[in-house]
Amino acid sequence: MTIAFISDLHLSAERPSSISLFCDFMQKSGCQLEEIYILGDLFDYWVGDDGTEALGFTPVEQALKQTTDSGTKIFFIAGNRDFLVGRAFSERTGVKIIEDKTMLELYGQRVMIAHGDQFCIDDTAYMKAREHFLNPDWQQAVLQTSIEDRINEAMNMRTKSEHTKSVNTEEIMDVNQAEIVRIFKEYDLDLMIHGHTHRPYVHQLEIDGKTCRRYVLGEWKRERSVIYANQGKYYLKK
Ligand code: MN
Repeated sequence: MTIAFISDLHLSAERPSSISLFCDFMQKSGCQLEEIYILGDLFDYWVGDDGTEALGFTPVEQALKQTTDSGTKIFFIAGNRDFLVGRAFSERTGVKIIEDKTMLELYGQRVMIAHGDQFCIDDTAYMKAREHFLNPDWQQAVLQTSIEDRINEAMNMRTKSEHTKSVNTEEIMDVNQAEIVRIFKEYDLDLMIHGHTHRPYVHQLEIDGKTCRRYVLGEWKRERSVIYANQGKYYLKK
């Protein structure tokens, strides 16, 4: 039984290669996996479940549906780009939407899976913006506007985020170490898997005499970044 974790694919019709890379992965590997966990930012932006066609994501939904139909379970945690993914998407694709910071019990270990942006607390401006876009009232209001308006709003948010990335230091945009340790202690974790920072790596931590690990997934560009878990072993394929 193999489980795969992926994140930060940033699928976009503006980059058709991103979509074919994903569909190819689903067709070739999807049905051989027991479970797939998508840890956010599957889409570069998502404007609501009624925007699939407008954004050119029909093939993505089809690939997900084929994979879930084959018996593979797929779970989805929203990222900061696709937080508007909702119930209709889930019904069409068979993908189960789960909470950010979900706890899994894997091979007798306590594992937390998350998008990862919530650990980047040094970026105070981002944390404030995050609170705003995760607000259900704001999300409901946005979903009432036209698809065109939502696409424009998404482009604005993306431009702002790209600007911020270019002026912020690397440290500010990475996870805060003290926050990571705090979460490991609070949830008594052995392992954490997240994405968002696009810095694929396996970090080893000593917490209260226990050796813990934090796996960070990379973004998908020309290549895919996947963590496979099998029989208690984890493999990060950058
Ligand atoms: Mn992200």
